[in-house]
Amino acid sequence: MTYLDMDGVLADLVGAVIRHTGLPMPTYYGEWAKYDFDWVIPDEIILNMEVGVGARELIAQYPDACILTAAPLSSARLRWLSDNGIHLGILSVVDKYVMCTPGDLLIDDCPENCRLWESRGGWAILWDQPWNRSVK
Ligand SMILES: [Mg+2]
Repeated sequence: MTYLDMDGVLADLVGAVIRHTGLPMPTYYGEWAKYDFDWVIPDEIILNMEVGVGARELIAQYPDACILTAAPLSSARLRWLSDNGIHLGILSVVDKYVMCTPGDLLIDDCPENCRLWESRGGWAILWDQPWNRSVK
């Protein structure tokens, strides 16, 4: 099975948050945690996300993939997927690695998710983003 991350892969959540808040681009994964936000992201930000750079090509390459996200499946997220013509299955789990069986592929922008996935016998591709380049 192939799993595609939503935020930071299929959807440009960071870009939408930057447009909404004026925050600078994060330089490492999880940097925004230092701001101690309430991380319930407003629907208007979710609905303002652009499709990620390269995401359409990724979906074309893996048309049977499933979206694997740690974010709650809000109605705004489901609407965003529908509005953008993304009709993949979707699973929401807090710890993504529990879904891994050996040989499964995960494409994700979070270095730790990729590391844990591979520790379970899966293949992981760290999706290139400004906030994960320092760990390559
Ligand atoms: Mg992500």
